[in-house]
Amino acid sequence: MFVDSHCHIDFEDLAAQGSALFERMAQAHVSHAVCIGVSIESLPNVLALAEQHEHIFASVGVHPEYTEGEDPSVERLVELAAHPRVIAIGETGLDYYWHKDRPEWQRERFRRHIQAARVCNKPLVIHTREAAEDVVRILREEQAAKVGGVMHCFTETLAVAEQAMAENFYISFSGILTFKNATQIKEVAAAIPLERILIETDSPYLAPVPYRGKLNEPSYVPYVAAEIARLRGISLEEVADATTRNFFTLFKVGEPI
Ligand SMILES: [Zn+2]
Ligand SMILES: [Zn+2]
Repeated sequence: MFVDSHCHIDFEDLAAQGSALFERMAQAHVSHAVCIGVSIESLPNVLALAEQHEHIFASVGVHPEYTEGEDPSVERLVELAAHPRVIAIGETGLDYYWHKDRPEWQRERFRRHIQAARVCNKPLVIHTREAAEDVVRILREEQAAKVGGVMHCFTETLAVAEQAMAENFYISFSGILTFKNATQIKEVAAAIPLERILIETDSPYLAPVPYRGKLNEPSYVPYVAAEIARLRGISLEEVADATTRNFFTLFKVGEPI
């Protein structure tokens, strides 16, 4: 069995596929997925999916790229995260790729998410792009290690992975890992302990090889696991078992296999 620790199946192109999407997940032995919240406005759709499907969980957060829409307080995040299907806070973090001026509001919002995660004792789902130094610094300053979480769609250096793991975070690899030119990410996936690795699709984006450039979906997550197995010289089953166990340990759901 495989688990997809990060997907956006509430987004239009995937939501439009209805039950066929879940059938393909089952055929690919992908047993669970977390539908990640990116805004307060889209949260009802995320929660509805998690309510309708026993194997889909939800997270609550506002993505660092989102400039419009509600910017929730700590109390508001805690209140929304009380929903029984919500297992994490995020995605949150910093994205300086689209915001070259490195705005303070992103760091403030990120701090609020960490504070909310600590209040409700749920792990964090972290997005970082061209901002690793600030992300690690803020994780430390806000004592995110008390709840831990996952660095999603990891594309940073081994040094950043080590700093994140020291703060009680897992490292999650997406389809990018299967891209030929992803040398640095492949090195990280081969080097860090298997006990700290998660897998994800980040669908509908970043489809793994051999579907690169196409619409991504949770049933493709085994391709990420296969690349980890190849890089480490271990079996696919070993990667599937470890990443599934790590998922249930981090999100405190289900039974570890
Ligand atoms: Zn992200
Ligand atoms: Zn995402």
